[in-house]
Amino acid sequence: MVTINDIVALCKRRGFIFTGSEIYGGMAGTYDYGPYGVELMKNIRDAWWRAMVYERDDVEGLDAAQISNRLMWKYSGHEGTFGDMMVECKKCKLRMRQDKMADQTKCDVCGSKDLTEPRVYQVMMGLSIGATMDGEINAYLRPETATTTFTNFKNVLDSVPHKLPFGIVQNGKAFRNEISPRGFVFRMREFEQAELQYFVKPGDDEKQYEEWKATRMAWWINELGIPAKKLRFQPHEKLAHYAKAAEDIEYEFPDGFDEVEGIHNRADFDLGSHTKSQKEFDIKSTVPENNESTMKLSYSDPQTGESFIPYVIETAMGVNRCMFAVMLNAYTEEDLGDGKTRTVLKLKPRLAPVKAAVIPLARNVPELLNRANEIVADLRKLGLGRIEMENSGNIGKNYRRHDEIGTPVCITVDHQTLEDGMVTLRHRDTMEQERIAIKDVSKKLKSIIK
Ligand code: ATP
Repeated sequence: MVTINDIVALCKRRGFIFTGSEIYGGMAGTYDYGPYGVELMKNIRDAWWRAMVYERDDVEGLDAAQISNRLMWKYSGHEGTFGDMMVECKKCKLRMRQDKMADQTKCDVCGSKDLTEPRVYQVMMGLSIGATMDGEINAYLRPETATTTFTNFKNVLDSVPHKLPFGIVQNGKAFRNEISPRGFVFRMREFEQAELQYFVKPGDDEKQYEEWKATRMAWWINELGIPAKKLRFQPHEKLAHYAKAAEDIEYEFPDGFDEVEGIHNRADFDLGSHTKSQKEFDIKSTVPENNESTMKLSYSDPQTGESFIPYVIETAMGVNRCMFAVMLNAYTEEDLGDGKTRTVLKLKPRLAPVKAAVIPLARNVPELLNRANEIVADLRKLGLGRIEMENSGNIGKNYRRHDEIGTPVCITVDHQTLEDGMVTLRHRDTMEQERIAIKDVSKKLKSIIK
């Protein structure tokens, strides 16, 4: 059974993820992504963008600023309420999120019943921006991408016309002053989200909510290659005050099922909270009175001419958490007999950080090197992603390294190649080797990375 420590060790050893600020003793809740981590994150992000934007007609992309006006967070409700109820153990000083405690009457660690009253803890990271360096908080780092999507609803709709239903996606960093960052990259203070806000006619929301649940679950299974039995839906026990319905997609981590993506029916709360002229609309959700917004966030039905505030279905995925689940799922230790084992990351080829490694069998034979370089150049033209030239000499070590980072194929150029124009192609999962002609390598790789 794979453990979280297996992944932490692999990430460090092979350059996926390092501890943030490691050189100065670390910084809780932050991580730095290394050469292969950035590739895997990018491939996951690209798979998501492809499914959400390129393969549909009804979704547009957006990339809003990460620092934003305070009013944004006043009317979104974050400034007032986006804080977890915290309890501190007076004996061991542990701070716990009340809703995550195993037993709300005693400390999770020392068992003491001497606890403080629950109190709200500010989760947003405040900033003091501009020339006035008096330390006053006048802006926030965004704790989610969703809010700036809502506030750009009209800008997007006016520039790229759509009929309802249509959606806007955003992918980017979010910052939360989490009380107890934990579980490696499971709970971080700086992380990346990939969120969709899908705008629908009131009344269509329940049907669209079910459709998005099915669409997103299918993506986890088909695009990420995670078996259905390791995923489940979990309805929220307690709904946020604005939510009409909310369920999480959960992945089976080594210590049990936990959230990787949320799917929410947010009704008309968000556009209703941020719109100008709230009284003109029949807003169903309970929203804060807003006299500061300068834009109406309504939709005019082209048939009836009626203006109304659309409902929102949200799908909210954490990209780091997603990558963590993908790595845990792909991590395999195989017994090769004779006391030998190998570690393989059985990633879907499209997600693999390196698509192919080309290995000249002897590193000081210029003809082999030239031939290998030509193959690398040809494969790079395919635009499939990273192709590596492996010129470190030891073929066994090369295979081991590429198994561990999940490279689907290694292509070896040997002395025979110079005579017959054939190379050895070694498949990651089966370790099978086949001789194929150099001229067929590109086509073969394309068929593997499809
Ligand atoms: P949680 O209950 O775990 O705090 P949430 O319900 O507040 O999460 P959302 O606001 O719905 O999470 O965010 C959507 C997704 O973003 C989550 O499903 C998760 O994958 C990811 N996410 C949220 N908080 C963090 C974090 N601190 N570190 C890493 N990923 C996170």
